Amino acid sequence: MNYISTRDKSVSLTGAQAILQGLSRDGGLLVPDAFPTLELEEIGQLAPLTYPQRAAQIMSLFLEDFSKNELIKFAQAAYGPAKFDGGDAAPLLQVGDTFFLELWHGPTSAFKDIALQMLPRFLSASLEKTGETRDVCILVATSGDTGKAALEGFRDVPRTKIVVFYPRDGVSDVQKLQMMTQEGGNVAVCSVVGNFDDAQTGVKQIFSDTAFRDSLDAGGYFLSSANSINWGRLLPQIVYYFSSYCDLVNSEIIEPGEEINFCVPTGNFGNILAGYYAKKMGLPIKKLICASNSNNVLTDFIRTGTYDRRREFFTTTSPSMDILVSSNLERLLFDLSGGDDKLVAGYMNALNTDGVYTVSPEILAQLQSLFDCGMINDPLTKQTIGRVFREQGYLMDTHTAVAYGVYDEYRAATGDKTPTVVVSTASPFKFADAVIEALGGNADGGGFELIDALETLGGVSAPVPLKSLRGKQIRFDAVTDKDKMLGVVREFLV
Ligand SMILES: *Cc1c(COP(=O)(O)O)cnc(C)c1O
Repeated sequence: MNYISTRDKSVSLTGAQAILQGLSRDGGLLVPDAFPTLELEEIGQLAPLTYPQRAAQIMSLFLEDFSKNELIKFAQAAYGPAKFDGGDAAPLLQVGDTFFLELWHGPTSAFKDIALQMLPRFLSASLEKTGETRDVCILVATSGDTGKAALEGFRDVPRTKIVVFYPRDGVSDVQKLQMMTQEGGNVAVCSVVGNFDDAQTGVKQIFSDTAFRDSLDAGGYFLSSANSINWGRLLPQIVYYFSSYCDLVNSEIIEPGEEINFCVPTGNFGNILAGYYAKKMGLPIKKLICASNSNNVLTDFIRTGTYDRRREFFTTTSPSMDILVSSNLERLLFDLSGGDDKLVAGYMNALNTDGVYTVSPEILAQLQSLFDCGMINDPLTKQTIGRVFREQGYLMDTHTAVAYGVYDEYRAATGDKTPTVVVSTASPFKFADAVIEALGGNADGGGFELIDALETLGGVSAPVPLKSLRGKQIRFDAVTDKDKMLGVVREFLV
């Protein structure tokens, strides 16, 4: 299997090359040139396996240049008890008649750990496989969850270094503490005066500085990114769709072959795209329900076929979904168009220059048969958290609550009784202030006070990695102006 570009099918890369390169040189995203399919019997063979074994099995179908042994080793290290609290990376919980797939028991309490515990292992192995002699330096601009998950994933991984920039006034107290106390010998963290856009613009400028890249090259480094368009981040996410299906079969809630729905809180479209790929590979999925907050560009797209980013941007209580350009949608369009690279390139050009495109009636029809969608605003998100906690005793974070709220509206509107898995993407403690308010509490105070307050109100313990921040030493308190970010990277690498 090779990897081709969504904007140029003549591109052909191995798995290792695709992972190292991240993005295709034509600006397109890299996708497999063919998808493996699994018969029901083969899905059944995954059921008795552990999560790391299921992961190695699925991932090996896409990475022919990695040995099964290698993948098992990676998955055991990434998803074992040393990384995931309770030793289960993707536990499925029944609450009333709904199932929650909790993907946030990893080191940073958000679902990005599932991908970012794996990507660094792929990357470091890909250096060897491609004969790359330079080491890789990962640059990240983060608005919160990605930066910390990338730091934890890359810490002390051989032949990698990572520098994370976050906006000084743009992340939560808990997120700031998580990054300032980061451990590892190959990591650096720096805050930037300004907002997320300033940090991101600074990182993009470093990437496009050819003189700097040449000097890095001479020093034995090249730059790469850890953002969610890398195939190495998407692939690990396909696994938990299969895994939760197996868990439902194992507990005899469904018969093998029975269809289920997934409802996914969506931002960059990476998570739900992995669900679409699972369905394409043969997993019996009826509907993929795409849940948005007030930045509901995807809801409008699925309903009308027009993607229009020319709209007001809202800062919401589910910040990891505050996105107007969902990059991974490009991979879906490529697939639904039957691999029409020219058509996709045209849509993406239109999005870039005009801010809008409309897909063909054929693509729209497929989109609507595969996906349902909905939007939940901040007041409704809080109401949902409060209601589910009072009625069922289950505490959700704001992103998960958006998904649950959308699912509630979906089943009321359609009467669909298909068993449904709501994908739960963060610990409620990571967004403690909004969750406390949803429970009617007082959210004044800093990071630790909020964690304590939510433990009391919610009657549950905070995840150990968040609680243990208290005893950690501050290692990174540097602040830089946005035009001095290059100097920070240079100083770190010499
Ligand atoms: C990143 C993130 C999302 C959105 O996932 P996408 O793959 O970008 O659609 C949802 N919830 C949380 C908590 C996240 O960190």
